[in-house]
Amino acid sequence: MEYKVLVVEDSRPFRRLLETEIRTAGYIPCIASSIAQAETILNQETDFLCAILDYCLPDGQDGEIIDVCLSLDIKVIVLTAMMDARTRERVLAKTVIDYIPKDSPACVSSIAPLLHRLEKNQQHHVLVVDDSLTSRRYVRSLLERQYLNVMDAQDGQEALAMVRADPRISLVITDYTMPEMDGVQLVKALRQHKVDGQLAIIGLSGDDDPSLTARFLKAGANDFLAKPFNQEEFYCRLHSTLNALDTERRLFHLANTDYLTQTWNRRYFFEHPQTRKNNGPRGLALIDIDHFKKVNDSLGHHIGDIALIELAKVLNRYFPDALVARFGGEEFCVLYGNNDQGFEARLNAMREELAATTWTPYDQAFQFTVSIGMVHGDASIHQLIQRADHCLYQAKAKGRNQLVKASEPQPALLV
Ligand code: GH3
Ligand code: MG
Ligand code: MG
Repeated sequence: MEYKVLVVEDSRPFRRLLETEIRTAGYIPCIASSIAQAETILNQETDFLCAILDYCLPDGQDGEIIDVCLSLDIKVIVLTAMMDARTRERVLAKTVIDYIPKDSPACVSSIAPLLHRLEKNQQHHVLVVDDSLTSRRYVRSLLERQYLNVMDAQDGQEALAMVRADPRISLVITDYTMPEMDGVQLVKALRQHKVDGQLAIIGLSGDDDPSLTARFLKAGANDFLAKPFNQEEFYCRLHSTLNALDTERRLFHLANTDYLTQTWNRRYFFEHPQTRKNNGPRGLALIDIDHFKKVNDSLGHHIGDIALIELAKVLNRYFPDALVARFGGEEFCVLYGNNDQGFEARLNAMREELAATTWTPYDQAFQFTVSIGMVHGDASIHQLIQRADHCLYQAKAKGRNQLVKASEPQPALLV
């Protein structure tokens, strides 16, 4: 989705600079040079990601444009050449996201990261934990102003239960002094279940105990802020914490998924705790496209790629509750729970659906089938794969488009 950004700025060179910066960042700039022009635009549309507003305009020299946008619920970033303390205080007293001093042309370079941050914030769910209602409301309003989804809890126990129940929560902001369980205890409890890339934590406290920062950080918090904090410091720390979380998640995604099909890759599969633990019977299947080389040779590699993408989608649709990974080339692996009959039936239903489907990307009609080697048993992952691979080989030899299931293991195979 492409977001629009409203710009109201009377200086022509600066307007140009902003326009280029916003477009390069991947957003659509809507430009006005006065309040009057901005109102004409706002009569037509108000669905902007945010507005970047010059504080001093020809038809309003004292930030009047800010109130115009805020009254329409548009998020505001203020550009100002006036850096005096009074203007700064007045701007921040309004519910703006940030203000950017117009001290050099380079100041526009902070806009792109800020726009990206606002856009990505919509995916984050933040839990605010504080026993004081006033404090919760204040932090909530700061977060909501930046498109974050906010929930709150009034003590540590409630917060723990909420984090356990809702996997969408990606950031916890917690107070220190609370009845029952204090903030540091809460961080320790959260870190038993959630590593850094899953959950970020920021500690807050009005207590002037100088050891508190270290205690929060040692317990596993990503950052700490002393109350009362000013809005700018809060946003700076919030942004650096969320940026680090997003980077960590992106790295995890890049390292563990297959670029073409977006399924898990071999690394993720073999490092998954479910793969490593060997306590009880489970099902495993290797699925390989038949005569895939012919698809590539006759229709082109790009059509072959589409076949792989479509097969991955079908696999994920049939096995949302299993571990599905691309092992390499046109071979996929499914690690399933302990339900022998159910697994076999689902694999066969999928195989039949694939054989009956005609794909038509770029108006090129083609079909493909798969062969499946399946095993169900209580053995290590490597033994299961070895046996499934043997069955897959048999399925190919017997004419393809079929499932061959391993018989109960011979005692000799159980090393
Ligand atoms: P069989 O039925 O015995 O499995 O025959 P096959 O042609 O499917 O198997 P073979 O191992 O001979 O060929 C696999 C082909 O898969 C060769 C290779 O070019 C192709 N392949 C591997 N990875 C990709 C990919 O990412 N995209 C595309 N388009 N082709 C790929
Ligand atoms: Mg408190
Ligand atoms: Mg093949």
